[in-house]
Amino acid sequence: MLALLRAIGAGSLSLGRLYEGHVNALKLVVRYGDEAQVRAAAADVRDGHLFGIWVTDGAEPVRLVETEVGMRLAGAKSFASGACHLTRPLITAQPTDGPPRLVLVRLGAERAASPTVGGLSGMRGAATGRCGFDGAAVAPEQVIGEAGDYLRQPEFSAGAWRGIAVALGGIDRLVGLLRGDLSARGRAGDPHQAVRIGEALIARETAALWARRAALLAEGERFEPGDVAGTVNLARIACEQAGMAVIALVQRGLGLQGFLQTNPVERVMRDLATYLRQPAPDETLVEAARWFTGRDLPDPEPMA
Ligand SMILES: Cc1cc2nc3c(=O)[nH]c(=O)nc-3n(C[C@H](O)[C@H](O)[C@H](O)COP(=O)(O)OP(=O)(O)OC[C@H]3O[C@@H](n4cnc5c(N)ncnc54)[C@H](O)[C@@H]3O)c2cc1C
Repeated sequence: MLALLRAIGAGSLSLGRLYEGHVNALKLVVRYGDEAQVRAAAADVRDGHLFGIWVTDGAEPVRLVETEVGMRLAGAKSFASGACHLTRPLITAQPTDGPPRLVLVRLGAERAASPTVGGLSGMRGAATGRCGFDGAAVAPEQVIGEAGDYLRQPEFSAGAWRGIAVALGGIDRLVGLLRGDLSARGRAGDPHQAVRIGEALIARETAALWARRAALLAEGERFEPGDVAGTVNLARIACEQAGMAVIALVQRGLGLQGFLQTNPVERVMRDLATYLRQPAPDETLVEAARWFTGRDLPDPEPMA
């Protein structure tokens, strides 16, 4: 899965975002759903339905309301990838009491969806937008898992390793474009440019090592939840820093050529810069730092 997400991310970060959401939603259904729900989801996948995970609330957070005629949704999700296209979004919905529930919504062409107002500068291919759910009926079999499952650790933090893998693919692509562009223009031999290539390779490999460690911990069975969440959180920040460092090196190294819209570098930089905006990076780093202040990082591949 690490190799697959990385390869897709290198081809298109937008496609990687959509595929990662599809995998993420299915993992949650498999983890928390009952057998009938898992079978139904598998049948939907075979029928070509695209899943996704929409948790980001806008001005009107999504609520799960009990009415005389059963459960109903109210509110809207924002920054939802594929808002106008996905047919099986797994969404978080806040009931009157307790933690949020996971609801697997069955969407057809008819939906209250629109592209993100203002538009994003990058990741346009992920087609983010707002999707409203006011009045949508929720059958009991659409509610996945128990109250609080979505926020359960380490799964809540651990799943981010797949997003890191996609971003790593974007970094691969950008480093490749830097090397190719400088070589094509006969500038790669210049010592200053060679330093940039070297630093970009170091940053990329740092992200790759963190991504591998996060994946091994997140998918391993034998690690403490706090160690898994802390490591994946550190990996998130490491990958973000590596990506931003590579973008700066590319901008400096290629100059204005890298800003021409006809140059693929321009789009990959926009996509990567946008993709790297993940929720609450300050809190993510501080929480991980606090966790590992009094204990060592776990090593999923100890040397013999
Ligand atoms: C292309 C794309 C596709 C997306 N697709 C989906 C999707 O399919 N489903 C979905 O649910 N979401 C999706 N999102 C939304 C995404 O999950 C995040 O919600 C979003 O990217 C958060 O970024 P942010 O910069 O607004 O984060 P923020 O958390 O607002 O962080 C911005 C800055 O504010 C700081 N900060 C955060 N909280 C506080 C606080 N309380 N006080 C002070 N400072 C604070 C952070 O540390 C950071 O420095 C998508 C986003 C993008 C860009």
